[in-house]
Amino acid sequence: MREKYKNFETAVIHEGYDSQVHLGSLSTPLFQTSTFTFETAEQGERRFAGMEDGYIYSRLGNPTVKVLEQRIAALENGGAGLAFGSGMAAVSAVLFALTNANDHILCSQGLYGCTFGLLKLLKEKYQITHDFSGMETEEKIRSAIKPETACIYVETPINPTMKLIDLEMVASIAKEYNIPVVVDNTFSTPYLQRPLDLGCDIVLHSATKYICGHGDVVAGLVVGKKDFISRMAMTTQKDIGGILSPFDAWLLLRGLKTLPVRMDRHSYNAQKLVGKLKKHPAINRVFYPLDRKHKEYKIAKKQMKQGGGLISFEIKGHKEDAQRFLNELKLIKIAVSLGDAESLIQHPATMTHAVVPKEERQQMGITDQLIRLSVGLEAWEDIWADLEEGLKVLEN
Ligand SMILES: *Cc1c(COP(=O)(O)O)cnc(C)c1O
Repeated sequence: MREKYKNFETAVIHEGYDSQVHLGSLSTPLFQTSTFTFETAEQGERRFAGMEDGYIYSRLGNPTVKVLEQRIAALENGGAGLAFGSGMAAVSAVLFALTNANDHILCSQGLYGCTFGLLKLLKEKYQITHDFSGMETEEKIRSAIKPETACIYVETPINPTMKLIDLEMVASIAKEYNIPVVVDNTFSTPYLQRPLDLGCDIVLHSATKYICGHGDVVAGLVVGKKDFISRMAMTTQKDIGGILSPFDAWLLLRGLKTLPVRMDRHSYNAQKLVGKLKKHPAINRVFYPLDRKHKEYKIAKKQMKQGGGLISFEIKGHKEDAQRFLNELKLIKIAVSLGDAESLIQHPATMTHAVVPKEERQQMGITDQLIRLSVGLEAWEDIWADLEEGLKVLEN
């Protein structure tokens, strides 16, 4: 954390905003404007030439959005931040910024479904190839790096299997080869995991999820070194244009203030439910980063403050049984997305990862029996009661 606010819980509320320069407004003002007027033509010239600070047009920068960008940069302990209109706008802007035609991207095995789709597009249009690696050992990572590898792209925990990647290990090897490491930190948020502190170079988020926390905004965020972020701001953000609206930035700033409180509760609830799910006869396996039996428990312990709010589990039976179980639930809503106050459940094989070919899906560990639960902020006893009632349908 920076000097100004040493503790995360304080920075998440105050960083990047001074009420005194905004007529004392406690809440960040909403600058709902597309453009900014210049006092004189000469001032306009100076702003365009970069000789004078100030706003020009909201695609190039907006004061409300700026507060959000400064805040997320501080929370991730990075040089600067950029906000986008969706998580995928952030992912694509970063990958466009880092690659040229014929480059190679090394990815963790198992990625968000649309990131997978984007890689396919990059390959078809620009011959940018990619490989997946489990990244379990230094040797595995080294052997997957090619002369044309332009970046290493990692998700951890991996959606939806909860596999973990040792970020410190990946970063240290990437440094030897001078390859930037990008981490999709959506599942953990900077409250639970800070990839830049572990040596990684760029962090991105679907801010739609925990950062917003209230299920009412689609947004993306990127944090990295100042130079890289300014370059992105003037290229893959300005010219592709996937910017965030001021109002959505305002909602995100509001949601973000309670992030630590929410993450504590999501994690607590999830831990309680993991204990219950593991004992249930209709359930085969449970995947949760900070479960002692989890395959990568040691990595989770090393790089995550808590386990977060996502649990995956395999029921006994077939695809239809998974669907019957979901249909029985009342409190828990059937929906993709995650990180909201409401508990949400989905079936990755037919929903978020339906675009991934079956063979690759199986390789990633996404079986027809796998279910992903985003644990909400309700009383965990009520969430469990709903799950337990629903699981009865599998017993007959
Ligand atoms: C949702 C999600 C994305 C995509 O974000 P959008 O805001 O939906 O565009 C990317 N990565 C992960 C891990 C996600 O969960």
